Amino acid sequence: LVYMDYNATTPCDRDVVNEMLPYFTQMYGNAASIHYDLGWYSKTAVDNARKQVANLINADQLEIIFTSGATEGNNLAIRGVYEACKSKGNHLITCKTEHKATLDTLEHLQRIGANVTFLDVDDRGMINLDELGKTINKETILVCLMYANNETGVIHPFAEIGELCKKNKIMFMCDATQAVGKVPIDVKNSLVDILTFSAHKMYGPKGVGAVFIKDGHKTDIMPQITGGGHENGMRSGTLNVPAIVGFGKAAENAMKELESNANSKLVPLRNQLEDFLIGLGEVKLNGGNVKRLPHVTNISFFNIDGKRLLKSLNKFLAVSSGSACSSASLDTSHVLKAMGISSETAQSTIRFSIGKYTTEDDIDFAINKIKGILASLRPMNTKT
Ligand code: PLP
Repeated sequence: LVYMDYNATTPCDRDVVNEMLPYFTQMYGNAASIHYDLGWYSKTAVDNARKQVANLINADQLEIIFTSGATEGNNLAIRGVYEACKSKGNHLITCKTEHKATLDTLEHLQRIGANVTFLDVDDRGMINLDELGKTINKETILVCLMYANNETGVIHPFAEIGELCKKNKIMFMCDATQAVGKVPIDVKNSLVDILTFSAHKMYGPKGVGAVFIKDGHKTDIMPQITGGGHENGMRSGTLNVPAIVGFGKAAENAMKELESNANSKLVPLRNQLEDFLIGLGEVKLNGGNVKRLPHVTNISFFNIDGKRLLKSLNKFLAVSSGSACSSASLDTSHVLKAMGISSETAQSTIRFSIGKYTTEDDIDFAINKIKGILASLRPMNTKT
């Protein structure tokens, strides 16, 4: 099986695992029990990981809060701002193609009294900045717009959104789960106030993530998990030291790879696959005419039974239809729906997301398998 679902999750790097291992059996102290060496080792390891994670996005270490992942990060940011800033206003803005961790959280707030605007996107998956500007009003407290979409890889105009929010004195929260470690992100030189991300999308372990909260903004966010006051009171609970250590190492690796531009090797591989698929005809590339992540291609196949296509592909290729993170079933993807794609077409839409372990042989293998599968499922199509 060739793995082409790196947006769902990535394998852990070997050196990440090696770095984590001693913290399970040898250096197992509680990072909050610093009166003896064992606890101190853990605290030092967490401090080091915090620096590594902060470096990756050019943040200060004190601006990083460790969480259990981006779902928790989005919940902390959105619920936290709503609770802390209620007296300033009751309006929050997002768009229809955000991850469910954002949409469900905002829908919950809507049910308990918040006024939430879900902006439309165009057929490329882009928001309209003028519309965003017009939607902002005196009651607006938060704009939640992701950096890059998990299904299509489409990149939002991050800098422009930040400027609009700054101009209107509104907080800007960005779910950058699919972008951190893939494209350079510099929070110091941008206007984002809160940024969430996750280790398992960048060759780190599952179940650990981080929220960047710009210095001075902690009082604008109400903690959602209360208790022992860990993470500066922003997220209580004994720290998952091995996972945090692994996250740190993964961030350090990602930083090196960003600097060496290792990700640029993904573009030719992605393009090779994409060009082949487009050349087949009876397909459509979704989100093709805008800035996109270097490793994602989202393709609708026409005149084919989507369920059979995915089932056949999955014998050889780990790829997903819609968002693997939120749909175990073949529900119509809300992202594709918002882009105006019919539910029938959405069912036969496949997301290919490659990563640093993808080889040219993998692409050739995928191309051959796809060719065969399309020929058998579309017997009348002479092109395949
Ligand atoms: N946000 C985006 C854009 C994602 O792609 C994902 C996971 O797929 C999440 C949030 C949730 O992340 P986690 O699995 O760390 O909770």
